[in-house]
Amino acid sequence: MSERLADLTTMRVGGPARHTVTATTEEELVEAVRATDAAGEPLLVVGGGSNLVVSDDGFSGTVVRVATRGVRVESDDACAGVVVRVAAGEVWDDVVARAVAEGWAGIEALSGIPGSAGATPVQNVGAYGQEVSQTLSQVRVWDRTEQRVRTLFPADCRFSYRHSLLKESMQRSGGVTPRYVVLDMTFQLRPGGLSEPVAYADLARGLGVEPGARVPLADARAAVPDTWSCGSFFTNPVLTEEEFAALRERVHARLGPDAEPPRFPGADGRVKTSAAWLIDRAGFGKGHGLPGPAALSTKHTLAITNRGSARAADVIALARELRDGVAEAFGVVLVNEPVLVGLAL
Ligand SMILES: Cc1cc2nc3c(=O)[nH]c(=O)nc-3n(C[C@H](O)[C@H](O)[C@H](O)COP(=O)(O)OP(=O)(O)OC[C@H]3O[C@@H](n4cnc5c(N)ncnc54)[C@H](O)[C@@H]3O)c2cc1C
Repeated sequence: MSERLADLTTMRVGGPARHTVTATTEEELVEAVRATDAAGEPLLVVGGGSNLVVSDDGFSGTVVRVATRGVRVESDDACAGVVVRVAAGEVWDDVVARAVAEGWAGIEALSGIPGSAGATPVQNVGAYGQEVSQTLSQVRVWDRTEQRVRTLFPADCRFSYRHSLLKESMQRSGGVTPRYVVLDMTFQLRPGGLSEPVAYADLARGLGVEPGARVPLADARAAVPDTWSCGSFFTNPVLTEEEFAALRERVHARLGPDAEPPRFPGADGRVKTSAAWLIDRAGFGKGHGLPGPAALSTKHTLAITNRGSARAADVIALARELRDGVAEAFGVVLVNEPVLVGLAL
């Protein structure tokens, strides 16, 4: 069967796939991936399609949709915490909702993020100071190279900001699916009903507490505003100190001596800055590009939205305009966060 990728992705752009398979069991998932690879066909594994921008020409290979289900509590004790195994095809936000309802802490700030559980290790999904890497204890995968099921531990996954071994394997091969297809994953969560310390000042303010405080889990989940959780089109640039100093100079030259680019020092000596800030200060405000067909979100300058009739070409044209505008203004080249299929910036 062949389906349009526009119908399988939240960006709602993309032409047809040559072939589409929906896998509802782990066996079906492994078999579909194995058979596609054995036939030398391009493979695109799709969960919720919320981090994919697909070409208007479609995908000349097999799309495997992950629709496996299952959330199982493997152990629950006060010392080791709650160990929960989640099938790759589970809807991520349902997993977060269940954890909050059960009083298990560790993923509550990742509320409202669309997509499947199985995709979360790929870019080490994160929001408001939490990342899945903080609570993931195991990821069971089908290794497409070694043709066997393997268990990856956090150290194997080489997690960093919006990055992992899985994403690296995809980029290295030039493909659009990682070498490691996630079958299920195990989280180690903390029982007790209170959130992990609230890491983000804005979130803490919304909750009426000091940063670092713990709050009831349901409050933490409710405080994550939908309007902020827009799909980011670019990752936040991570710069060396020298690169950051050069950025500051460009910012002062363009915006005056009082303007300061956001600076978040990392443990590795590098500095993260804000892609949204750079886009905004380069002259692309909220709603830039309206009425569309593709335009910046009216709520956040990091999200490119399809206003209804956009094609992939419109999305990419806007993304290029932003990337080139920021590069020209500040000398920083933004990198796309979503996986581009048949497209390049
Ligand atoms: C409104 C909105 C808000 C968002 N907010 C955030 C946010 O706050 N933080 C954040 O980090 N992200 C955010 N995202 C991005 C996105 O939701 C996440 O990256 C999510 O994990 C993607 O899941 P998916 O199932 O939709 O992946 P898909 O888009 O289906 O796939 C993305 C990539 O993952 C691969 N993949 C999918 N399933 C598997 C699997 N089982 N095994 C191996 N590879 C797989 C695909 O092959 C593809 O390369 C947001 C997106 C939107 C639209």
